[in-house]
Amino acid sequence: MRESKLERVSESRIRTYCRKCGTPILLDFARRDGTMMPYREAQDALRKLANRGPGECPGFHVELAGWEFFWSLNEALEMQYPDHDDLEPTDVEFIGVVVLD
Ligand SMILES: [Zn+2]
Repeated sequence: MRESKLERVSESRIRTYCRKCGTPILLDFARRDGTMMPYREAQDALRKLANRGPGECPGFHVELAGWEFFWSLNEALEMQYPDHDDLEPTDVEFIGVVVLD
């Protein structure tokens, strides 16, 4: 298993690499209207992504669980929100996962 590897792409985006296959996964912390998600909303969205259950990584391997680990989601959250603002949770909107070339 690889080390977790993350890169900041833009103000709202962090690229993380799957720890199993190395495929880049782009996490976008902006809402559809372009504003930044507050910490709690991003936390909820990532939790949802982590707990989506069995599924296929864009790098073509199927896992029953463990996305939080494979995609280093906690590290990404920490990187995006180094000092958490503790706003009330809002409705989880959307977190984009994009596969890069
Ligand atoms: Zn993978």
